Amino acid sequence: MFELNKYQQKVLKNNFGFSTLRDSQKPIIESILKQQDTLAIMPTGGGKSLCYQFPALLFDGLTVVISPLIALMKDQVESLKENGIWAEYINSSQSEYEKMMVWDALKDLQKKHSSNPLLAPQGGNNSTSSLEREELPQRLKLLYIAPEKLFSGDGSFLNFLKRIKISLFAIDEAHCISNWGHDFRPEYTKLNLLKQHFPATPTIALTATADELTRIDILEKLKLPKAKTFISSFDRPNIHYHIEPKIDAFEKTLSFIKARKSQSGIIYCLSRKSTEQLANKLQKNGILAMPYHAKLTNDEKTKNYSDFMSDKIQVVVATIAFGMGIDKPNVRFVIHWNLPKNIENYYQETGRAGRDGLPSEAFLFYDPKDSYILRKFIQEGSEDLPHLDKETLQIFRQIQSDKLDRLLEFCQTTTCRRKVLLNYFNEPLENDCGYCDVCDNPPQKFKDKEISQKVLSAIVRTNQEHTSNYIISILCGKKNPKIINNNHHNLPTFGIGRGFEEIQWQYYMNQLLDLGILKIKYQGFSKNLVLTQKAVEFLNQNQELELVKYEEKIAREKIQTSKPELNLNPLQQELFEKLKILRRTLAREEKVAATNLFSDSSLVDMLEILPTSKEEFKTVTGVGKFKAEKFAEKFTDLIKKFRLENPDLKPKMVKKLVQSLRARFKRDLGDTYQETLELWQEYQDVDKIAKLRKLQKITIIGHLFKLAKAEKIDKKVLEKYQNPDLKNQIEILKKQGFESDKLRDWKDKIEAEFEVENFNYDELRIGLWE
Ligand code: ADP
Ligand code: ZN
Repeated sequence: MFELNKYQQKVLKNNFGFSTLRDSQKPIIESILKQQDTLAIMPTGGGKSLCYQFPALLFDGLTVVISPLIALMKDQVESLKENGIWAEYINSSQSEYEKMMVWDALKDLQKKHSSNPLLAPQGGNNSTSSLEREELPQRLKLLYIAPEKLFSGDGSFLNFLKRIKISLFAIDEAHCISNWGHDFRPEYTKLNLLKQHFPATPTIALTATADELTRIDILEKLKLPKAKTFISSFDRPNIHYHIEPKIDAFEKTLSFIKARKSQSGIIYCLSRKSTEQLANKLQKNGILAMPYHAKLTNDEKTKNYSDFMSDKIQVVVATIAFGMGIDKPNVRFVIHWNLPKNIENYYQETGRAGRDGLPSEAFLFYDPKDSYILRKFIQEGSEDLPHLDKETLQIFRQIQSDKLDRLLEFCQTTTCRRKVLLNYFNEPLENDCGYCDVCDNPPQKFKDKEISQKVLSAIVRTNQEHTSNYIISILCGKKNPKIINNNHHNLPTFGIGRGFEEIQWQYYMNQLLDLGILKIKYQGFSKNLVLTQKAVEFLNQNQELELVKYEEKIAREKIQTSKPELNLNPLQQELFEKLKILRRTLAREEKVAATNLFSDSSLVDMLEILPTSKEEFKTVTGVGKFKAEKFAEKFTDLIKKFRLENPDLKPKMVKKLVQSLRARFKRDLGDTYQETLELWQEYQDVDKIAKLRKLQKITIIGHLFKLAKAEKIDKKVLEKYQNPDLKNQIEILKKQGFESDKLRDWKDKIEAEFEVENFNYDELRIGLWE
């Protein structure tokens, strides 16, 4: 795989504070450095920005970044400047004065480029070698621009750019160019001219939208037929998924937020009105929440957004359409108050949590009612699709409707959520993830006849001509005018389901739909439940069905007891708060958003490393040369003082919070495992590795087991560390149903059952590992 040379490594650390590229970033950056057109598909939080920002520093000329989101531009430019990189933006939010400053910088660049024969414009030598020197040039390296500005003035701006050396075009949110995407923007269509104007300049298109239709469309529209395409894994291992029926939603939301006092969150709603109502209700209950939607005035929008960015408010309640501009790296939770439109949107929206890689939560309240509204949107919402002809529009609607169906299935699934999500993106996950609500509480299934029979009988007795709500009213014995009018309150099935609440009936009916026992027949505006062939067989042959039990109590308890997942001890928590206050003060002085100065992952890293010198401070992730020079002293002073007052707090280098949380080691092995793996590949000697790493032998063997499980090393090599007798004994006890997570219990049990002498705990640990 592509590796950085010393110079590149230095640029990465000094200017971004990272010591390595992520595996997913490497091939993308390699491709750009080779000046190839490139399409990078990477989930939110995957680290897309670095894919063009880093090459921008390695190239001689200017990198032009096209981005549709004004707020995002500003954030990125702020962050870059804090890192000692000269970047500017041009968009409609700027004052005349600000615009002039950028113009001056561009004109200056033009002069420099034309006076230096080495830096010939357009198609000149783009290689990095001429730049392999100590200091980066004090020149404008990145220009962020909104697409409409790029083509402004009848192409005069483009012509102006042609006289500057452009090394790279980066098109962020590239899916905006596609009709098939979820966020088509007409102003993006003009980008199809870019290649024509700059045939020799490499272009990178970036998006988090995975679906193939969009992907092909992007390349076609941008005229990049030969672009190298890279698709990263879509797994977001630090996000915990949770979906539950919408019952007592407000109370639950309130206690959820209250349990996460210092954490930022987004709540997504379907309508403008509900964002306002919900924000209002939360405010009345002491939560700092503000609405965020398209109909706010510009001032309100800017204020709410920047208050959220600077942690002045804890929660924004946003409409789905508008919330996509929210780009805060330390959003710890995303709550869906209403259903998203489809799985892609769910994934995108939940993906706004935990961009910094720290543990985060996605919570969705599932209400079947929302799906009717969404379906209405699909049928009526054609205003924003005037470019489609009638037939295409029909297909488009059908696709949207099918996608909604899949989302509904996903909400009700009794399979590991991550499995379903990743399957949807054609990235099968073999094992359950261990980090979602389904895995936390594997569903209890039971064999049923009675419940299903009751439902079917209510449907048959009313001639398969009614909606699920109507059937539920019949089952629960609720008289309404329509039922009385139809004389259905005299049916023998009327009220046979009084033992359950309506929501429970809904829950079971949904399963019958999933299992293909029922189906929906669209009649005019109503969706009637009808029986399928499978239902007939079920009834005639007196079969049983496997249903998942409705357990509201568990769902209720789960949300109240589930804790914020940043596993900090009280001392760390105290220091974390102090670091945050310092960050806020410094950010105010620098006039930037706090997380643009230091991300939460930088702060968490500080908690683990507890740096007390500038050198140590430099090892913190996200801390580069410029930030170290400027801020090391402030942070190390604070940490030194805190450590003196609290000698119990010790640095902890290897353990990463997220890694400790993750039960599985599928793709990304933690650093410590990676280190063991590399040493293993070199020496294949546990004793030696233990010595080199100053760790216990048993710890190293533990690593090897995990590595074997992740298929990084051959399982066979581990056999010699196992005691086969003990392994057998464990198997036997397990078969007998013995279980415990305490080694002590196992020891007692094994000694009692098998009269073992010289019992060895390490062997036991190994025996239990697999
Ligand atoms: P995206 O645009 O794909 O959503 P970002 O570019 O905002 O993602 O990056 C997400 C987070 O990952 C940021 O906090 C960024 O600082 C961090 N990050 C990116 N690349 C690296 C890297 N090589 N090493 C460590 N952290 C990284
Ligand atoms: Zn799972």
